[in-house]
Order: sequence, then structure tokens, then C-alpha cells
Amino acid sequence: MDNKIDTGDSYVIEGKLALPYTYFAGRVGSTFITTIRDKHKIMGVKCNTCDKVFVPPRQTCERCLEDIRENWVELGNTGEVVNFTVVRYEDKHLPRKVPFVLALIHLDGADTPMVHILDGVDPEEVKIGMKVQAVFAEKTTHTILDIDHFAPV
Ligand SMILES: [Zn+2]
Repeated sequence: MDNKIDTGDSYVIEGKLALPYTYFAGRVGSTFITTIRDKHKIMGVKCNTCDKVFVPPRQTCERCLEDIRENWVELGNTGEVVNFTVVRYEDKHLPRKVPFVLALIHLDGADTPMVHILDGVDPEEVKIGMKVQAVFAEKTTHTILDIDHFAPV
């Protein structure tokens, strides 16, 4: 198949564009990040109607759409790996040198998993069901990377 665009007499150059951006994390997202940064605590929000705790926290329940932004609950800093992938391709935007593990972690007290870096274990040794705990960053970046990574307990 011929992917060339018929441009007549114009000359087309293909390239890639890096696009830095900023956005407001919202009140719920901001409280989540600043509590990790200032107190080293991971907070979720609970829907009392559905009896579900969401992390990362959200403004409304994804099941019944109730406003849950004020229903903060403190979660443990420990949890369990429910799935993972080993990142093996190098890319400038990645937070670690490859290979590294991105894990889906079910925190104690939460009903939804969150994604984070799993470190302190050989990628080939990671197992579903592995118990892990948050390791907080020594220097803040004011991002979710104030949890530097999770490591096996
Ligand atoms: Zn609900």
C-alpha cells in the first residue's frame, strides 16, 4: 500500500512534536497528591451507597454517580500486586531506566487498584499476589512520584 500523500508541488516533512503541558489536578486530585507529599498517607474516597473505596480518588462514584468528594478514607501504605508489566523499551518520558516494572496495586482498604512503579525486586521475580508497600520519595516532585515506588514487604 502506498501511504504517500499526493501533495502536488508542495514539499512535506514528517516529524514528531514534544508537547509540554500543565493542568489543574482538581480539588480531589490535589488533596490526594498533597497528602502523600505532606503526610506520607494515601487517601481514597468512599461511596457509602455502593460501599466502595476508590483510589486514585474521584469526585463522583463511577457506579451510582453520587458526589463522594468529601468522603475521604485513609488507606494503608501496603497492598498486593494484582497485575504487572515489565517495561523494556527506552523512552525519554519514562520515570525509570528500563527494564522496570509497572504494577497494578490493590492497596489495603481500597476496592480499585492503582498503577505505580514496583522496584526492589528483579522484574523476573515479580508475582501476582506479592505483598508490597509504598516507599516515599525523599524530595518532593509534587506529583504521584512522591510515592517513589512500591517495594516488596
Ligand atoms: Zn456509588
